Amino acid sequence: MRAEDTERYARQIRLPQVGEVGQQRLLDATVLIVGMGGLGSPAAMYLAAAGVGHLVLNDFDRVDASNLQRQIVHRHTDIGTSKVDSARSTLAAINPDIRVSAVGWQLEGGELDQQVTQADVVLDCSDNFPTRFALNAACVRTGTPLVSGAAICMEGQVTTYIPRREDSPCYRCLYEDTDEDLAETCAAEGVVAPLVGIVGSIQAMEALKLITGAGQPLCGRLLLIDTLYMEFRELRLPRQPDCPVCGAGRPY
Ligand SMILES: [Zn+2]
Repeated sequence: MRAEDTERYARQIRLPQVGEVGQQRLLDATVLIVGMGGLGSPAAMYLAAAGVGHLVLNDFDRVDASNLQRQIVHRHTDIGTSKVDSARSTLAAINPDIRVSAVGWQLEGGELDQQVTQADVVLDCSDNFPTRFALNAACVRTGTPLVSGAAICMEGQVTTYIPRREDSPCYRCLYEDTDEDLAETCAAEGVVAPLVGIVGSIQAMEALKLITGAGQPLCGRLLLIDTLYMEFRELRLPRQPDCPVCGAGRPY
């Protein structure tokens, strides 16, 4: 590890659960973040600052004035520019030593599988069900860990799926396929700014743990966050044996 890395990441290296070995794992890691909105903003900023060597950002949207209340990776001067380009310039300013790739279109089919395969961890920070189901299926197919976050109004939830673990459910175990538009729901019902910071930061923390091997991931557990009363609850998430994605014919 270079001397400047030892200095930059000193507070993390100091932790016995990370150390130089863990920091090197972060530097060597690739994380795919799908969605550069409210959840993707803090997740990408913390992972860039923590020294994840390669971040792949995926979003096909452009920065709108109504995003800026909570999507903190974008600036007022970024209105109208593509979210991945806007985010990339912020991340480069935070940590110029890491590589940031921008994918400014909807990932589908073989290209989605390829990006997921190349990632050590995938963060689902998206705002629509078709993307969530496609991403989950790609993670199950390729055996890639998926950290899923969601936030609406004043409530959020986070969980981690690890397809190679026998006891891990997948996103489809929890949710029926639907075409409900979460972005529209979010626009209609609203979402409070710091909540997406809390959820996105927990997603970044889960990614950091998965990469370094520290602690226990939120696997088989759904963390429910009610910011109005500041209550954190946890639900057990069993795998559904008849799940159409990870059930029969499961490739592992
Ligand atoms: Zn499943």
